[in-house]
Amino acid sequence: MSSQLHPPWGYSKDIGPDTWHKNYPFAKGDNQSPVELNTDAIHQDPILLPWFTSYDPGASKTLLNNGKTCKVVFDDTFDRSVLRGGPLPGIYRLRQLHFHWGSTDNQGSEHIVDGARYAAELHLVHWYSKYSNYAEALRQNDGVTVVAVFLEVNTKGLFSIFSQGKEIPFQKFDPSILFPKSRGYWTYYGSFTTPPFEECVTWILLREPIIVSADQMTKLRSLSCKAANEPHCPLVDNCRPPQPLNYRMVRASIQ
Ligand SMILES: [Zn+2]
Repeated sequence: MSSQLHPPWGYSKDIGPDTWHKNYPFAKGDNQSPVELNTDAIHQDPILLPWFTSYDPGASKTLLNNGKTCKVVFDDTFDRSVLRGGPLPGIYRLRQLHFHWGSTDNQGSEHIVDGARYAAELHLVHWYSKYSNYAEALRQNDGVTVVAVFLEVNTKGLFSIFSQGKEIPFQKFDPSILFPKSRGYWTYYGSFTTPPFEECVTWILLREPIIVSADQMTKLRSLSCKAANEPHCPLVDNCRPPQPLNYRMVRASIQ
């Protein structure tokens, strides 16, 4: 297959984060994600505007487990489900959302806030619709924005795709139900946290986590990173460790 073009990678020791730069050199770039946030040092920026979404539930297409994450794919052939405002210069189309999560409740998020990791982190990936397609957007500094939502477990049916390679129709889903009440955010310039780590991402990290049940986390942790006919291998701890912030500025909205 296309193993030359896309060398294997994963989260286990042999093909894990410490090895990614060998096949994906962007991994050693100066603007990589995720990062560790020290909220005391974050500059409050009155210029940062509120952000808005207009999501069409009819745009959700499928839900799949690709062996590395659980992902919902949206129709992005026109400005159907969009995000604007905040630190963004224009209109960004929603392409997919996916999760990163841990084997226990105190790990799993990619971004770390004041030394703490959340149980999971949701990423909603959007691309700047002034570019002609997603591939072109990936080559631009302002091509992509990812809204990140932290998931915290509390006592209070996520998905039913247990094996890698499984894909089911997933329609009439409005992802804005996954946002917390508060729209306050931190923002910085970074990269994708999976190969090939393109540095084209305006991150919008929502400060308030959403609460999920222990049951929902158990469902995420029961997904398999192998195909249905292979031995079960729990898909957990699919998160990249924090990368150096270097000279980048993290800004906080006032809200
Ligand atoms: Zn992600």
